[in-house]
Amino acid sequence: MISIIAPCYNEQDVLYDFYQTVTKVMKENQYSYEIVFVNDGSRDQTLSILKELGEKDRRVQYISFSRNFGKESAMLAGLSYSKGDAVIIMDTDLQHPPSMIPRMVEAFQNGSDQVIAKRNRAGESKSRSWVSSLYYKLINRFVDVQLEDGVGDFRLLSRKAVDSLLSLSEYNRFSKGLFSWIGYKQEIIEYENVSRHAGDSKWSFFSLLNYGIDGIISFNNKPLRLSIYSGVAVMVADVFYVLWMLVKIFLGGVDVPGYFTLISAILLLGGIQLVALGVIGEYIGRIYYETKKRPHYIVADDNYTQVSQSQNKIQKVLS
Ligand code: UDP
Ligand code: MG
Repeated sequence: MISIIAPCYNEQDVLYDFYQTVTKVMKENQYSYEIVFVNDGSRDQTLSILKELGEKDRRVQYISFSRNFGKESAMLAGLSYSKGDAVIIMDTDLQHPPSMIPRMVEAFQNGSDQVIAKRNRAGESKSRSWVSSLYYKLINRFVDVQLEDGVGDFRLLSRKAVDSLLSLSEYNRFSKGLFSWIGYKQEIIEYENVSRHAGDSKWSFFSLLNYGIDGIISFNNKPLRLSIYSGVAVMVADVFYVLWMLVKIFLGGVDVPGYFTLISAILLLGGIQLVALGVIGEYIGRIYYETKKRPHYIVADDNYTQVSQSQNKIQKVLS
């Protein structure tokens, strides 16, 4: 069986289209399947549409969060509720074309544990794709896992890969990194970039920036190292500067107009200290969240049967 996982946050405008397109593809190819919708605290009609779909079609499952927990949590919930031998994670805005599903399933049947659909950046603004490709160059230099440009969350995972992902229990989840971290046999399939079918993107400039920082920080401690190196470099330079000034003073006496050098040294050092503090604070913040061991999400409503619900609870206790 194939599980389709679809996180939705305020997607009332596209849900029906999404449901119909996916259902059509799945029926045409005679797959046995389920669609697991995760309502991530939407404030529009998303939940009532899901309820209606769930009543009409027993292949539709939904989980509804008590508030917006973010796409990462929604994907995690979808993965832990899914029962398929293969799981496909898709956006509900039809930016991940359902017509790719047969090719992905074929690759899975040929033995791949992760089938990654990679989009090209056609139709995207020049500046945005430039920023993204720069980001990937940087991140691949600094981070321990390799990430690829244009590769998002649209992918098929085998049961083995899903179980491995679920065994990573960290609170700060950066899926792109986690997918790459678990490894397994991968295959990449390309598709044409499509723009959103209806509704708005939920990414603002700042959320993208935060996502970018998460990507760098959640995978290693190199930034921490970097701040140590730069601190040491500045200190060494400073010691030489002081020695040189001392020699100058011994030879030529004290010059009073040292104000400019003094203030620039203070500013430089202050800046570096602030950066280093920020980096440290960032990691401490993460430790703080990890130690709380809060759940990733709270389910307020779903249409799973009582039996599977208690099974899920047992599984959670066991794991
Ligand atoms: N999404 C979510 N929770 C959020 C934000 C987004 O579940 O807090 C879902 C959204 O419904 C969509 C997918 O994640 O199915 C991708 O979101 P979006 O289209 O806004 O991102 P973009 O395609 O612009 O990267
Ligand atoms: Mg989108």
